[in-house]
Amino acid sequence: MAETIKDILKEIHAGRIGESGLVRLLSLPTHDEFQPVFDESARICRKHFGDRVYVRGIVEFSNYCRKGCLYCGINKANRRVGRYRLTLEEIFNAAAFMKKQGVLTVVLQSGEDPGSDALVLDAVRRIKGELKMAVTLSVGERDSGGYREFLRAGADRYLLRIESTDPKLFKKLHPDDDLEYRTQCLYSLKKLGYEVGTGIMVGLPDQSLESIARDMLFFRELNPAMVGIGPFLPHQDTPLRGRKNSDIFLTLKTLALIRLLLPKSNLPATTAMGTIDPTGRQQALKIGANVIMPNFTPSKYRESYKLYDDKICVSEEYGKCASCTRGIARAAGKCIVRSKGYSKSK
Ligand code: SF4
Repeated sequence: MAETIKDILKEIHAGRIGESGLVRLLSLPTHDEFQPVFDESARICRKHFGDRVYVRGIVEFSNYCRKGCLYCGINKANRRVGRYRLTLEEIFNAAAFMKKQGVLTVVLQSGEDPGSDALVLDAVRRIKGELKMAVTLSVGERDSGGYREFLRAGADRYLLRIESTDPKLFKKLHPDDDLEYRTQCLYSLKKLGYEVGTGIMVGLPDQSLESIARDMLFFRELNPAMVGIGPFLPHQDTPLRGRKNSDIFLTLKTLALIRLLLPKSNLPATTAMGTIDPTGRQQALKIGANVIMPNFTPSKYRESYKLYDDKICVSEEYGKCASCTRGIARAAGKCIVRSKGYSKSK
């Protein structure tokens, strides 16, 4: 007899779920059919986080990148994007501004730009020393010596998305990268003591539901502190221009299942979710996300940090994102908390 949704949910809670059960849920075609899973993921999120939404403010401090990821608007082959790197002062001022707005965690994000490592070290030391904020780095692959240096400077967290654990798909999308090395990086970051964040894109060209299910099983094994899910959105200056956008429903289904597999991990309602659907972030917060990441990059640089087309919050006035974020949380029946939001998943 075919398993019911209730049976599959029980398997998830018992830690026995496999690929086929996850695929069965991912393939449910309508909201109504998936609703019991959304109800359960929302319940689990409330159980661990209540109404609380943590905020991490992003500063996109450099769009230089040595890699050529096929989906990415700032990949090294894109000659149409104006390259920039913020100064130490600009990074510090952005962090100080977000602290004034009540945001206690800064995410320093860039393309893979090892040329800025000295700047990153200085920025981390200064932000930790003078502002006492939590610092997350999202600057790509380095060897463990590099990760150790960032950690010694004071970094608390590291985001490195795996994007896909499907070897063929990973290779196709990342001509400069190696899946095994990316995986090793994640384990090495964990071993060093970082709160590690990772994530995937859903709805990529040639990505199967089986592949997404295997990504989720990988997350269960890695047990990261944070998992970010981005719907695939093409960028006009990349080889994937013209490919179909992902849809918000598949993105939300994936998020809900990850909440069930990793009840205590931080799951952001990502900017890409808000790009694909104007209410995407509210919907995500309702069914299992507990983090939101407003953009504090100085306005004049934002246009040059578009990883995909039509990215929202690009022309916003500097600092407007903080109030917008409060509105999104309220619309989801939740509230922003002034907290560094350290991981509960250890
Ligand atoms: S996804 Fe990251 S590493 Fe890849 S090209 Fe874009 S910025 Fe560079």
